[in-house]
Amino acid sequence: MKKKERHARAQEIIDNYSIGEEFTQKHLEEFEQFSGVSFDWIKRVPNKPNQAPARHLHCSCPEWKIRGGSFSWQKAVQRLTENQYRKNVTNKVMRESLQFYQKDWLSRQEKVCSFCGSTEHPQADHKDISFLEIQKSFTEQVGEPEAYYDEELGWKLKNEQSWIKYHNDIVTYQVLCRSCNASKGAR
Ligand SMILES: [Zn+2]
Repeated sequence: MKKKERHARAQEIIDNYSIGEEFTQKHLEEFEQFSGVSFDWIKRVPNKPNQAPARHLHCSCPEWKIRGGSFSWQKAVQRLTENQYRKNVTNKVMRESLQFYQKDWLSRQEKVCSFCGSTEHPQADHKDISFLEIQKSFTEQVGEPEAYYDEELGWKLKNEQSWIKYHNDIVTYQVLCRSCNASKGAR
């Protein structure tokens, strides 16, 4: 998707919402692909007085250190090059392809955060080797992972099965709560 198309798509998404409404998970994920960061939430807020239809948004985004403040989605879309966008999409589908296995692992664990002991929002966290490290060695040993767009299924990964197997053979997990996992940063 070119910058212009991403910009148009972002507008289209925002126009689904009235003031005060929070984005659905699906739209949140699209915005993550456009901007290259993770959001806890995004919601539409009123424009400033005398402002053209700017489609003003607030978000919570740990990477930008914004906790419920405004951000410029136009800038976020603009800043990202075509290559970075493709990379984001590829990262996203690579992570998504693991979700089933992570849920399965989590279902067999005691759901207590290894860092703070919280039992809220438990997640499977990459413990000894990070996602990015596994992704890097996969790229070196198997080849560049590549996403393609399927009209029915959305973004999918070529070599999905070999990626899943490669990852799952190496990975070790620990249980972390969402907050501790987020403050570890992108890995
Ligand atoms: Zn925790």
